Amino acid sequence: MLGCGPAGAAAAITLAARGISVVAIDPRPSGEWEPGEGLPAAANAALRKLGVWPSFQAGGHLPASGFLSCWGSAEPAFRPALLDPRGPSWQLDRAAFNQMLRDAVGSVLPYRVTEVKRDGPQWTIAAADKPPISVNFIIDATGRSGRLRRSPRRVDSRLVGIAALLPDPFPGEAASIVEAVPEGWWYASRVPHDRLVVAFFTDASIAPTVNWTDLLGKTGFVGQRAGWPSAEKLRTVAAGSSTLESIAGPGWLAVGDAARAHDPLSSRGLHDALTSGIAAAEAISENTVTAYAEQVAADYRAYLKDLDWYYRQETRFPDSPFWALRQM
Ligand SMILES: Cc1cc2nc3c(=O)[nH]c(=O)nc-3n(C[C@H](O)[C@H](O)[C@H](O)COP(=O)(O)OP(=O)(O)OC[C@H]3O[C@@H](n4cnc5c(N)ncnc54)[C@H](O)[C@@H]3O)c2cc1C
Repeated sequence: MLGCGPAGAAAAITLAARGISVVAIDPRPSGEWEPGEGLPAAANAALRKLGVWPSFQAGGHLPASGFLSCWGSAEPAFRPALLDPRGPSWQLDRAAFNQMLRDAVGSVLPYRVTEVKRDGPQWTIAAADKPPISVNFIIDATGRSGRLRRSPRRVDSRLVGIAALLPDPFPGEAASIVEAVPEGWWYASRVPHDRLVVAFFTDASIAPTVNWTDLLGKTGFVGQRAGWPSAEKLRTVAAGSSTLESIAGPGWLAVGDAARAHDPLSSRGLHDALTSGIAAAEAISENTVTAYAEQVAADYRAYLKDLDWYYRQETRFPDSPFWALRQM
C-alpha cells in the first residue's frame, strides 16, 4: 500500500480482514492538520464496514446542523441536516480521523517511496536508505500528487484552496457555509476544539494575485462567521478535478485521490476515498480489478457533468475570469 491516508487505510483494513498480507507505507505523521473536514453522512456505512464506527463515534467529531449556501443568488439558502434521512454530515477533527484509520491498519512503515519497479510478476519498492521491499501487487494510494503513478494524469481543473485553521468566534454555530464571490468561492466550517476552517478556492492562475484577508473582508457571510480574522498561517493546496487515464494495470491499481481527485465543492473526496479503498480491496480478492477500474472511471465522468452543472448555476459574475473558465 503506497500511502496510508483514508483511501489506503480503507483498502489495507479490508485486505487484512480478507486474510491478504499487506505492507502499508507512508512517511507522513497522521497527527498533522490538513484541510478536508466535511464528511457526508453517506460515509457512515463505509466506517461501519471498516469496523471503526465505535471509535469514530467516540472521536469527538461534530454533527453539522446543515449547509448555508450563497450560490447563484445574494440570498442565502439553508439546507437543514434534518432533510437528509442518513443524518447530519460530520465536521471532522481531521488529524484524529486519519489517526483512527491508521490505528485500525496497525503497523505503517514510515518510509517515502521513491521508486516502484516491476521485475516479472513481482514489484520492487525502493525508499531512501531502506532495504527494497518485494510484493506481488501495489496499490497507489498516494493522493492527488501521485508521483509514483503508473499512468498519465489528466487535469480537468486547476482549482487551488487557500485554507486557514482559526479560533472559532462562534463555536455553537453548527452550519457550514459556502459563498460564491467574483474571484472564486469561500467555505467555512467549525471543527472540534473550538476551531474554524476557512478556505478560499480560486483558479491557480488567479491565486498569486489574491489577498486572502482583503477578499474575506468583502464576503457577505463567511467573513462575519469567522469574526473578520487576518490569517497568518495560510495553506495553499491543489484542489481541482483530475484523474489517471488508467485506474489499474497489470499488478497495480489506484484508489482515492490517486485514482481521481474531486473539487471540494462536491464534498465527496473522503467518502470516495473510503469507498474506493474498500471496493479496490474487494476487487483484488475477487479478481475483478477491471470492473473496479471501469466503475471508478464511470463515476468520475458522471461527477464532472454534475460539477459542470453546479458551476453554471452561478450567473452573477459574467466578467470574472474564474467563472468564465468554469462555464466555457
Ligand atoms: C482544500 C481542500 C479541502 C477539502 N475538503 C474536503 C471536505 O470538506 N470533504 C471531503 O470529503 N474531502 C475534502 N477534500 C478532499 C479530501 O481531503 C481527499 O479527497 C482525501 O484526503 C483523499 O484521501 P486519499 O487517502 O486518497 O489521499 P491523501 O489523504 O492525500 O493521502 C495520501 C497519502 O499518501 C502518502 N504518500 C504520498 N506520497 C508518498 C510516497 N512517495 N510514499 C509513501 N506515501 C506517500 C501521503 O503522505 C498521504 O498520507 C479537500 C481537499 C482539499 C485540497
